Amino acid sequence: MFSSLNLDAQILRAIEEEGYTEPTPIQAQAIPHVLAGRDLMAMAQTGTGKTAAFTLPLLQRLLPHASTSTSPARHPIRALILAPTRELAIQVEKSVETYSRHVALRSTVVFGGIDIKTQKPALAKGVEILVATPGRLLDHVESRNLMLNQVQILILDEADRMLDMGFMPDLKRILTLLPKQRQTLLFSATFSDDIKKLAQDFLANPITVEAERRNTAAETVTQSVLMVDHDNKFDVLADLIRSRGLGSQVLVFTRTKLTAAQLARKLERVGIPSDAIHGDKTQQERINALDAFKANKITALVATDVAARGLDIDQLPLVVNYELPTNAEDYVHRIGRTGRAGASGEAISLVDGEEERRLVEIEKLLKREFPRERAAVSVAPRAAPSHRPARAAAPSHAHTHGKKPAADDWFMKPYVPSPSATKAEEQPAFCQDKPKKQLAALLCRPPEKSQ
Ligand code: AMP
Repeated sequence: MFSSLNLDAQILRAIEEEGYTEPTPIQAQAIPHVLAGRDLMAMAQTGTGKTAAFTLPLLQRLLPHASTSTSPARHPIRALILAPTRELAIQVEKSVETYSRHVALRSTVVFGGIDIKTQKPALAKGVEILVATPGRLLDHVESRNLMLNQVQILILDEADRMLDMGFMPDLKRILTLLPKQRQTLLFSATFSDDIKKLAQDFLANPITVEAERRNTAAETVTQSVLMVDHDNKFDVLADLIRSRGLGSQVLVFTRTKLTAAQLARKLERVGIPSDAIHGDKTQQERINALDAFKANKITALVATDVAARGLDIDQLPLVVNYELPTNAEDYVHRIGRTGRAGASGEAISLVDGEEERRLVEIEKLLKREFPRERAAVSVAPRAAPSHRPARAAAPSHAHTHGKKPAADDWFMKPYVPSPSATKAEEQPAFCQDKPKKQLAALLCRPPEKSQ
């Protein structure tokens, strides 16, 4: 019961309004320690309720500082939440807003990829809780838009991902700007020696709590592997989506931004409403794609690993790995997108011969083997280009099951971005929403690292 966790009535009210009745295991384990002021190292994958696990006690601890004063001086930053990606930062701040709606504590979020000036007014007014991506936080520090000398609580969310993305130097710099006397909470989906080292450097005598077994995938997710030749992957995916009906949504993962953009385009071409979310899209394009997916306006959302971090999509029934991730731990993150908060979900990986090596790595990590089922392909092997029959207009395929033409002229054409992706694809991979800084970005850290 939340009521036994010693949280203020106004925080409990917000939880109740969200419809939560019981704390999740990570919440039940973490909240008492955080309230007691302990440093915490929490192993919890996304979907376990980890955001509330740190936000609820954080709000409770900051309550004595709640103030309705309009003076910025009364609202110094007292809690800093660092997140690896824009999406996760936005998501976390939304949760902070939700849970703090009945208390006089302010929050805001800062992340790269948008004009830094737009984030200044909220900071100037004063906020107790700041959610930030590391790079942009340092930009604000350099611009003297904020002070971190009153931070009492530091939270590193998805710390493993921050390390993967090379944020260690930024984290170290940020640490030098914070008071030594503070509480630090580290949340990570996966457990590695690097994370342990980070905890040693950043945390003092931490309590370790673990919601899931290390590096295990959520048990509510049914996982399977389909062996597919590389050239047949698209057809298998399209058939899979059609066989479930276009009303049944799917999150599809690719390894690269280019494949994500191309795949979304191809799916659109065959009548499957789709969009892509990856690091070359502007923040607004990513938000639009995500909103369209959440509103069920598109069937398939194609994402790269980094872009997908922090996506909180309720009731997502299916995740497809169109390509296996390079990093086996990303597999755990990917499939954590389905089967959330106790719901059951399904994860299907389309694996070609070249990827078997990666599959073995994943199996080692999960300590289980997947039966290698061969995908039924309803097409003949691809003919040489000159013999390819033309595919009929895309929408007519939208509801067809089974037999399809052996090949598609479209596959032979150069890649043409979809309207929503046009802006993203017009420019090179880095910092495309900051064209003037492209060269600088190639030479140094981009404003937000994304894949
Ligand atoms: P997170 O792991 O923080 O990304 O949370 C995953 C999802 O679980 C979010 O949609 C939360 O709103 C939801 N959630 C968090 N805590 C609870 C709870 N105690 N009961 C039900 N749902 C929850």
